[in-house]
Amino acid sequence: MKLAERVSQLSPSPTMAVSAEASRLRASGQEVIDFSIGEPDFNTPDNIKNEGHQAIDGNFTRYTAAAGIKDLKEAVVNKYQSQYGIEYTLPEVVISCGAKHTLFNLAFVLFDKGDEVLLPVPYWVTFPEQLKMVGATPVEVLTEEKDNFILRASAIKDKLTARTKAIIVNTPNNPTGAVIPEEEMEKIVALALDQNILIIFDECYEYFVFDGSKHTSLAQFANRAKHLSILVNTASKTYAMTGWRIGYLIAPPEICKAIGGVQSHSANPASVSQKAAVESILGDQDSVSKMIAEYDRRRQYVVDRLNGISGLSCANPGGAFYAFPNVSNYFKNGIGNSLEFSQWLLKEVGVAVVPGSAFGQEDYVRISFATSMENLVKGLDLMENVLT
Ligand code: GLU
Repeated sequence: MKLAERVSQLSPSPTMAVSAEASRLRASGQEVIDFSIGEPDFNTPDNIKNEGHQAIDGNFTRYTAAAGIKDLKEAVVNKYQSQYGIEYTLPEVVISCGAKHTLFNLAFVLFDKGDEVLLPVPYWVTFPEQLKMVGATPVEVLTEEKDNFILRASAIKDKLTARTKAIIVNTPNNPTGAVIPEEEMEKIVALALDQNILIIFDECYEYFVFDGSKHTSLAQFANRAKHLSILVNTASKTYAMTGWRIGYLIAPPEICKAIGGVQSHSANPASVSQKAAVESILGDQDSVSKMIAEYDRRRQYVVDRLNGISGLSCANPGGAFYAFPNVSNYFKNGIGNSLEFSQWLLKEVGVAVVPGSAFGQEDYVRISFATSMENLVKGLDLMENVLT
């Protein structure tokens, strides 16, 4: 069958594909340590689950407004008000089925064929695919290991053309863990203002910052840059709510209105999940601090172990829950790239990692430490054995 042109180049998400392959191997009886998927291994905190139960018991089980319920939009507004002192209004907020859905909607309503969107490399696997699906052109902006993968305004400047419509900024970054310092965000915002380009700002890992790194939100620049600021966030990572599918957007009202319209004709978030998400934002945050402390413990362990393997180098991730070691020294004896390295590692010792090529950087692999310490110890022992 001839499928539409827009999906002809599309390949399934590599992060999800590697994880599915790991599950398949496990089901067939093989022992596999899965470092592939970026999904919290914690359960959703009880206070949030209870809200979900109550929503079901109270029959809050019908359609909601396509762009989300008022309570959840208000919770989002409150969150940014208390964190940054910025007053957003309800028409500036849309609730969607996860940040991935939010980002897809954005690409759908913002970009026409030929529009250029600057995409820092390494990038999260889904960004370029969504852009290509709507006919936009991703334009890569390189970040470097020796600079801890920090996105620099100077690198962005080099890639601007008359067709540049937006830049995607993801901090803390998936897959590198890079956290953009405030002074660099200042420069990026100044450049965007000067060039009149939109900033799509993915802050899904906003609370996952370590070692004294500080997350700088685009919201902090709202007094001068609100008209070109598009904030994307989610309940998935912070509150271990991946399966509830709740993400949200803060953007100029005309963008929100368009996305609300699109959602009214496509998918919109589940009623029960939205009620639970209200509690996630407004409720007790103790469980979040505990989870973050555990991620930090794992991060230190993983980075130390990786750097202890001769031939590997791993920049210290200031945020998110990924390590992104350089494995290019192992590109020999039939292993020519990050995909072959990952396949070899899975076959030799049953450790699943995501090849750097999926993120636009061939010399690396991504290791998610959103898995138990026990798994990390086991998997890193196996890696060390086979790599030394
Ligand atoms: N964002 C996570 C990851 O990078 C979840 C999987 C996905 O949506 O690609 O692994």
